[in-house]
Amino acid sequence: MKPAVAIVGGGAAGLFAAVTAARAGAKVTVLEKADRVGRKLLATGNGRCNLTNLRASAADYHTDCPAAVKAVLEQLPPAQAVARFEQMGLLCREEEEGRVYPYSAQAAAVLDRLRFACAHLGVETESGFLVQSMEKSKGGFLLTDETGRRVRAGRVLLAAGGAAAPQLGGSSDGCRLLERFGHTVAPLTPALTPVKTDPARVKPLKGVRVRAAVTLLVDGKPGPRELGEVQFTEQGLSGIAVMQLSGRIGADTKGKHAFALSLDLMPDFTREEVRRLLTGRLSYAGEEPVSDFMIGLLPKRVGQMAAKEAGACLSQPAGSLPGGVWDKLARTLKDWRFEAKGTLSWPQAQVMAGGARLCEFDPYTLQSNRVVGLYAAGEVLNVDGPCGGYNLQWAWASGFAAGRGAATEGNRT
Ligand SMILES: Cc1cc2nc3c(=O)[nH]c(=O)nc-3n(C[C@H](O)[C@H](O)[C@H](O)COP(=O)(O)OP(=O)(O)OC[C@H]3O[C@@H](n4cnc5c(N)ncnc54)[C@H](O)[C@@H]3O)c2cc1C
Repeated sequence: MKPAVAIVGGGAAGLFAAVTAARAGAKVTVLEKADRVGRKLLATGNGRCNLTNLRASAADYHTDCPAAVKAVLEQLPPAQAVARFEQMGLLCREEEEGRVYPYSAQAAAVLDRLRFACAHLGVETESGFLVQSMEKSKGGFLLTDETGRRVRAGRVLLAAGGAAAPQLGGSSDGCRLLERFGHTVAPLTPALTPVKTDPARVKPLKGVRVRAAVTLLVDGKPGPRELGEVQFTEQGLSGIAVMQLSGRIGADTKGKHAFALSLDLMPDFTREEVRRLLTGRLSYAGEEPVSDFMIGLLPKRVGQMAAKEAGACLSQPAGSLPGGVWDKLARTLKDWRFEAKGTLSWPQAQVMAGGARLCEFDPYTLQSNRVVGLYAAGEVLNVDGPCGGYNLQWAWASGFAAGRGAATEGNRT
């Protein structure tokens, strides 16, 4: 008889697990609390879905069990995840730094291809089913939703995700359900978040994006550095480069350290070269007001703000500025500092750090070491990675391992 597998959560890990388990011969039912599956997936990569990273390896992830992350990723390395999506009909394209996107640049295409594969394989979906309780008896599991609806299954695969982005379905339900079965949960904190700064300095630049090298200063000392996009928001700084550095700030919950972000807006040039670039423009643009002088070097509003902070008056002709201002401006463009006043919280977080401890699951099948027949995949587990496709790669690979495990392991319930 086909093993009956109930998957809790129709997100990235749950849908990939559903396809894998159904292909391996299981009768699969996906239980999803929302009225449709994959809402968070639609928002990934700014609607483009950075679905994996070809450079991802176990060392890139925070977890309590790196050996298990390695064992899981080896079952579905990034290139094989891409190959599986291409088999489902999704043409993919590699962009910079190993990031892979759908060729159509639409997250909706990734979700649709997963949905079509599920439908083709006979996977059933119960939407609007918020799993509230899970009981285990001799015959298997009984899952009940808040209205009393019930589903029975021989095996359960928990893929209810993490608490990040509650507006897209994020919750800690999965961790709480696992705790009731005796699992321990590493503290849950928002990760990959924007960083709060003095709003008066960033608000006028709201919506502007720049490419910059960002250095995290911890108690005034330079720490990790990230090159990438920075976005100015109403309350602070966002964008991939900033979010990659946010973890250290967010983890300092007791406020033991002083953090700042230093933006190098012209990382391809030394400070002296920047100074020469600026003063070299004076021969043909010296009559222009400072407000227009840097158009062509930097986004207009960024140039204006940096010039103001370097002590220039925006209406003054650039050629009339005293020499010292150019030194100051070059220094500002290479080291524009923003005091970090903490990170934003769950609604703005891309992932959850913490979760059910991975060391309590079999590293190959992701079956619980506490409860036979219970599997887990995705962000509910204590694994999180950087921006750039790493978190979805974990969702696919863990969904693959757990889906295959749930469908094929000997019936030991
Ligand atoms: C804005 C944003 C952009 C992102 N962009 C990227 C990106 O480009 N690349 C990348 O690698 N990662 C990205 N991520 C992270 C990535 O989306 C997640 O790591 C990934 O979706 C986790 O997959 P999952 O299946 O574990 O959880 P989810 O995709 O969150 O799926 C969990 C599902 O379980 C359902 N659920 C929860 N509780 C219950 C319950 N009690 N009963 C029934 N159903 C339940 C939820 O409704 C949800 O559908 C982004 C995240 C956000 C928020």
